[in-house]
Amino acid sequence: MKKLRAGILGATGAVGQNYIHLLKDHPWFKITFLAASKETKTYKEAVSERGWFMPKDISNDVASLTVHDAKNIHAAEDLCDFVFSALDAEPAKELEPLYANELPVVSNASAYRKDPLVPMIMPELNNDHLDIIPAQKKVKGFKNGFIVVKPNCSLQSYMAPVYALIKAGYDVDKLIITTLQASSGAGRPGVSSLDLIDNIVPFIKGEEEKSENEPCKILGKIENNEIKNHAGLRISATCTRVPVRDGHTACVNLSFSGEEPSFFEILNIWKNFKGVPQEYDLPFAPKQPIIYRNEDNRPQPVIDREADKGMAVTVGRLRKCNIFDYKFVCLSHNTIRGAAGGGILNAELLVHEGYIKRR
Ligand code: NAP
Repeated sequence: MKKLRAGILGATGAVGQNYIHLLKDHPWFKITFLAASKETKTYKEAVSERGWFMPKDISNDVASLTVHDAKNIHAAEDLCDFVFSALDAEPAKELEPLYANELPVVSNASAYRKDPLVPMIMPELNNDHLDIIPAQKKVKGFKNGFIVVKPNCSLQSYMAPVYALIKAGYDVDKLIITTLQASSGAGRPGVSSLDLIDNIVPFIKGEEEKSENEPCKILGKIENNEIKNHAGLRISATCTRVPVRDGHTACVNLSFSGEEPSFFEILNIWKNFKGVPQEYDLPFAPKQPIIYRNEDNRPQPVIDREADKGMAVTVGRLRKCNIFDYKFVCLSHNTIRGAAGGGILNAELLVHEGYIKRR
């Protein structure tokens, strides 16, 4: 297949750099357009202000690309089949609909996550929410494109394990989530080192609200041309920033509304859990989306965040809870599964389903 031409908005930031790093040698996508807050002659020059911090050098073909001012939508129209958006929330709010008028937008930003016409996709969980796209295009009047978003990075570690149990017929009605979120989740340069080294910051602006609301949209259903949130789940979240470079950990306490599965049944459900990315064998799909570790001291960010190219969730320490039914600890790579890798998997699903095509 001839590669599809991908643009990256916010190409200089933490997530943008991860896109560039992860898309190198992608079998379906080729980077043809980059944008940030201002035009710069080359990507190498544009990124020098923030610093390139991926583990491999920028490839020559990307280093020499012009970085466009993200307001220059016409340039993207000429050069891309679709764009990934790694813009901050404020510019995303203004710019994503302008791009969506011309091109499919696969977004990481929070600007449109609450919009009932915008699907917030975790491909193993709610690929059926893509069915809202025709209604979105019609209501918003987008000529050629649409917006698909992915959820907040902190959700990625616990949503698949929780959803797998619900899918197996065990209704989850209460969750208490405590996250320990990596420094790269705050972008680049992010939290100052003096605030984070030897420390824990017990507040991340807006994060607890997202952790408590976004799962209900993901578990929701399309009704009357809108995504209606699932009403049967209550979540209480505490989100903290910890001095870990990459990898968000979440401690989860969970209760079921009815019958509860046995310990071994839960392990079996997680081990066998699969979704459409695995069925379609999408290039970025982890072979096994949920990996359970039996060791008492797992998951750990340094050891487990790269599981299956950073796309799998690692879970451990499943045990009975004295107040709720069960508790466990889970981990996912925030800038891969939680950001650029998750966006790439969404784009692969959109290609497979025929929503992104060569223009
Ligand atoms: P970041 O490192 O601060 O990067 C922000 C990017 O947005 C930069 O490329 C910046 O370009 C660009 N930008 C800022 N203001 C702009 C404007 N007015 N017009 C055009 N471009 C502008 O942030 P990040 O961590 O990569 O996050 C990017 C998005 O992904 C955010 O919406 C964030 O919430 C979301 N997200 C992040 C993570 C994570 O783990 N980091 C996970 C999931 C989702 P300049 O260099 O020119 O300023």
